[in-house]
Parts: sequence; structure tokens; C-alpha cells
Amino acid sequence: MDFALSDEERAVRDTVRAFVSREVMPLEAEVLRRERAHRPGLDRSELRELQLRAKRFGFWGLATPEEYGGMALPAVMQSLIWTELGRSFVPFRFGGEADNILFHATEEQKREFLLPTIAGERISCFAITEPGAGSDAANIRLRARRDGDDWVLDGEKTFITNGNDADFAIVVAVTDPEKGARRGGATAFLVDRAMGWRSEFIQTMGEGGPAALVFDGVRVPHRNILGEIGQGFALGMEWIGKGRYTIPSHAVGIAERALQMAIDHANARETFGAPIATNQAIQWMIADSETELEAARWLILRSAWTVDAGLDPRHASSMGKLYGAGMVNRVVDRVLQIHGGMGYTRELPIERWYRQVRLYRIFEGTDEMQRLIISRDLLRGYTKIGGHLA
Ligand SMILES: Cc1cc2nc3c(=O)[nH]c(=O)nc-3n(C[C@H](O)[C@H](O)[C@H](O)COP(=O)(O)OP(=O)(O)OC[C@H]3O[C@@H](n4cnc5c(N)ncnc54)[C@H](O)[C@@H]3O)c2cc1C
Repeated sequence: MDFALSDEERAVRDTVRAFVSREVMPLEAEVLRRERAHRPGLDRSELRELQLRAKRFGFWGLATPEEYGGMALPAVMQSLIWTELGRSFVPFRFGGEADNILFHATEEQKREFLLPTIAGERISCFAITEPGAGSDAANIRLRARRDGDDWVLDGEKTFITNGNDADFAIVVAVTDPEKGARRGGATAFLVDRAMGWRSEFIQTMGEGGPAALVFDGVRVPHRNILGEIGQGFALGMEWIGKGRYTIPSHAVGIAERALQMAIDHANARETFGAPIATNQAIQWMIADSETELEAARWLILRSAWTVDAGLDPRHASSMGKLYGAGMVNRVVDRVLQIHGGMGYTRELPIERWYRQVRLYRIFEGTDEMQRLIISRDLLRGYTKIGGHLA
């Protein structure tokens, strides 16, 4: 058994770390200042400029196939990179990416939606959640009715990331209510904003915010169906599947940076004539955080490895998402505690992380949904305890 990174993995990790230190972290003070003034940390043109700089550095389209100019990196490599990105709270991600399910598009759709998204000229959003259907995504109601060569969409989506900025939405709608979404009754549509849907910003405890999307008789041509009729729910699950290891990988990076801040602060801050690091109460918070961080790291890297090995990654990635999301919440909470009153201020990014990582336990499958999957796999015998070592 070898837990060491390969030379290539280490080289890529170190290059991304250098890029983040040199190009991204210097923006942090300005990002905090803008967010305190209720403005976006980075605007669209600044993000694009940074992404183009990263492209010159060699990073473009981590998950994008090479034929589309991407790097098609293995999942383990992507996981390591997401961890590096997590070390800065600047809302930066590499360019050259598109929603994984857009690669199911027809050649015509690829020209209209996929290629401009990869190039950063168009922004997409993915919409399955509705006011009445989140965890129970199969219960969606947004209806698409056939009318000649068009489909007419009526209903509402909610909590859609990028929903306010998107030029088009990938919308999962009910096309056959008799069948039900899970059994071929839902279909994915590519819907330009110009076709008439509108978005309403939703304020959250995090920076930025998702949007509600309203479809009121929006006409969509038949050629804008993504994949096959009836394949919408499966595409939705495929879209969500990717976040199961990128989100917790990002969480590991946040925890690493935050924990280092706590260690530095514990050594520097004195109370009662000695550094607070001399207190067992502080030492135990650091020890628990480091232990959980490492446990999460390996759980998540194994789930990414499972993807690369061509095995079914669902069980492993549910454990990684559940544990990684919980871990980063516990670590950031302890880091805030170690900083005392300063941790609670907006002078430091800790309260920002505290608000940000709370989301990680909710979106792309709540903690409870991950537990449901993990326990169901065991109770029904789909997975055996320790079965991956067989
Ligand atoms: C900031 C943000 C961004 C998002 N981005 C997107 C996006 O881009 N696209 C998109 O489609 N959606 C998006 N979502 C939606 C997100 O995926 C849902 O919020 C999430 O799946 C939970 O659904 P819900 O909010 O309806 O909660 P509910 O499903 O109503 O659940 C409420 C609570 O009950 C629990 N629960 C539900 N059923 C069970 C059960 N059977 N057993 C035990 N507990 C249960 C849940 O775990 C949760 O704790 C986003 C949400 C947020 C907050």
C-alpha cells in the first residue's frame, strides 16, 4: 500500500499552490473589503482575466476532454487541485470548464452551448431543485408540454447557483407525469434566458447567492432537448455526482488554511502570561482538527481514486461528502474559538468560512441524503463493510 503522491501529482499540486499564492491570495484583502460593502468579491471580467492567466500557467479545463482543449485530468489530480483552491477564499476556479452533462449535447448544441461555456463566453446554470422538491428531486413539478415543434415550460426552480448571471439554464422538467421523473418522465432542456425565463436573487448567509428561476409559458424548441426524452433525472444525478468529491476536496483546503491560522495564533496570543497554545483545551482542538482533516483527506482521495479505477464511486463519494462537509464545519468552528473575539470579526476571513462551509452540509445532497445512501448500500447488501479491500 502506497500513500505517497506520484511525482506528477506532486508537481501539479505544487504548481497550483504557487499560482494560488502568487496570483490569488494577494487579492484576499480586496475581496473581503468588497464583500463587506455587499459587492461581489470578483466581478466577471476579473475572474476571466485570472482564468486566462491560469491558462498561460497551464491550467485550463481540468475535467474537460482534450479534444475540447481541456486537460482531462484524473479525479485524484482534480481532487488535489480543488484542495489547493480551497486554501484561498477568493471565489476563483479554473476556466475552460462546462457542466459535465453538456458533453451529452448534439453537435449543434455543442456549438451553441458547450463550446462558448468552455471558452467562458457564456454562463450556464443547472436547475433541478424546486420549492417543493429538493432532497426528493424525483418530485419535481415544473412541466414541459409539447406544442408542435416546441415545448412550453411552466413552473419554478429555486436555489440555482449562477441563476442570476446565467445566459442559459439546463432545466430538468416533467415531460410525462404518468411515468414519474425517476422512471423516464423527466427531460433536460437547454433554455436561453432570451426565451423568457426570469431570475430572482435569493439572499443567503453566504457571499453571492443563488436564484429562483420562473418559467411562465417559456417556449423551447424541440432541438434544445439535452440527451434523450425521459433521461432528465439520470442526467440530473450525473451532474450532482461530480460535486461529491470536488466539494469535500475544497473543504480540505479550507480546513488546512484555517487550522494553520489557528496554530499560528495559538503560539502568538498570550493570556495569563503564556501563549494560549500551552493550554490543553487549545491543544486538543488542534489535535482533533488535524486528525479529522487527515481522515477526510484520505476518504476523499479514495473516492476520487474509485472514479479513476472505473469502479462505482457512489458509496465512497457519499462518505467523503458527508465526512468532509462535517469536518470543515467542526474545524472552522474550533479555529474561530481559538481566535476568540477576533475570530468573530470581519477583519479575518474565519467568520466568512464559517458561513460559507455551512452550505457544504446542504447542497448537492444533504448530510441526511448521504447517510441514507451509505446505510441503504449496507442494509441492502450492495456494499460490504471494508468490501473495497476485497
Ligand atoms: C446556496 C445553494 C445553492 C444551490 N445550488 C443549486 C443548483 O445550482 N441547482 C439545483 O438544482 N439546486 C441547488 N441547490 C439546492 C440544494 O441541492 C437543495 O437545497 C438540497 O438538495 C436540499 O433540498 P431542500 O432545500 O429542498 O431541503 P429538503 O429536501 O426540504 O430537506 C429539509 C431537511 O430534511 C432532511 N430530509 C429530507 N428528506 C429526508 C429523509 N428522507 N430522511 C432524513 N432527512 C430528510 C434534509 O436532509 C434536510 O435536512 C442549492 C442550494 C443552496 C442553498
